[in-house]
Amino acid sequence: MRVFKFGGASVKSATAVKNVSKVLSTHTEAPLLVVISAMGKITNKMEELVDAYYHTKESKKNIFEEIKYFHQNIIAELQIDEYDYYEVDNLLIELECMVEKKRDQTSSYDVEYDRIVPFGELISTKIVSIFLNKMGYKNRWIDARNFVITTNKNRAANVLWDESVPLIKSGLKPLVEKQTVITQGFIGRGLNHKNTTLGREGSDYSAAIFAYALDADSVTIWKDVEGVMNADPRKFENAVLIPKLSYNEAIELAYYGASVIHPKTIQPLKSKDIPLYVKSFLDPKKPGTVVLENASRTLNETQCYIIKERQSLIKIASRDFSFIVEDNLEIIFSAFNSSGVQLNLMQNSAISFMACFNADKMKRNALVELLKEKFVVEWSEGYTLITVFNYALGSTQLPTIIAGRKIALEQKSSSALQLLLED
Ligand code: ASP
Repeated sequence: MRVFKFGGASVKSATAVKNVSKVLSTHTEAPLLVVISAMGKITNKMEELVDAYYHTKESKKNIFEEIKYFHQNIIAELQIDEYDYYEVDNLLIELECMVEKKRDQTSSYDVEYDRIVPFGELISTKIVSIFLNKMGYKNRWIDARNFVITTNKNRAANVLWDESVPLIKSGLKPLVEKQTVITQGFIGRGLNHKNTTLGREGSDYSAAIFAYALDADSVTIWKDVEGVMNADPRKFENAVLIPKLSYNEAIELAYYGASVIHPKTIQPLKSKDIPLYVKSFLDPKKPGTVVLENASRTLNETQCYIIKERQSLIKIASRDFSFIVEDNLEIIFSAFNSSGVQLNLMQNSAISFMACFNADKMKRNALVELLKEKFVVEWSEGYTLITVFNYALGSTQLPTIIAGRKIALEQKSSSALQLLLED
């Protein structure tokens, strides 16, 4: 049994969906579960819709129409006939009704987010499943929310393994054994029976959850790049493929923000020794990268560049000039934790603490609110975080990257050099 995951780029247009069908038609030899994300950049649009809905903005209607036409155009190009299309139509109608209603004033932004954003995955998987059936690739559409059971923490739910694994084993496995199953990444259901999501880019993690529970033989993540590269090939001319990685190395790269694999994906696979393949859906015959248990490091010879754009920088200083040590750090970290702001890099001196994190206005405001009584808080936007993994290997491309740019934060460990640069 195998698990495939196709991300947004692999289903961003009718041509892309046809390509998915081509890739799948050459993999019919073993039972298959296919996890699919929302199409293209639709999750970003869904986020805009939540924002407009939650803050009762006029743009709400236009954003919804954009989402609707985007999917309808793909359907038209795929020439799915009207009868098949009604299921997608129903989802669009449900979404429209939801956002047309006045919002419940007692409901939080995160709850509304998880009510609305999963429509991206639901619609995408419906379209792909209908199209594949039409092309003669028989498959069954399954709602992932019936199997991925999570805590009630909206937008960053934790999987409840004791609840999910038996459900997947007893309910989903027999279905996958019979026929290819198409399902959604990123979404789950909380113990309160409401929608949850696993965090942006969480579909890789969904694939790993299913693979773990199904005792799959392998997971393949299909990407628009050749495999795991030592740098983003769209930004670095000389990027090279890393053919083999150990689980630990993959965890390390993901930790520093290599976006090719979602950080939580590796652990469930490592614990059951399930190999992970990262391959190109544009060139499926190429070997790509394999991540598996491997005692010896394979990355020693390769310098890796990881770039995180859209960073915010926060400076926190004590009002009473007390040192930023245990007691103040406890307050600071607890504020980060409860506002859901994830630190990408931090540094502290005697009376100040600086950190960078992914720009997110709402989370940042919540953080500042929690800290401002006890600390002087300043923040600014417009930074890029560069991590050079294995920086000690000698010649690096760093001088070109940092030429003329101001360094706001700098940190070195034995394996990684991290620089926060002003844009
Ligand atoms: N659609 C979600 C996102 O764009 C999940 C994913 O693609 O992995 O973040």
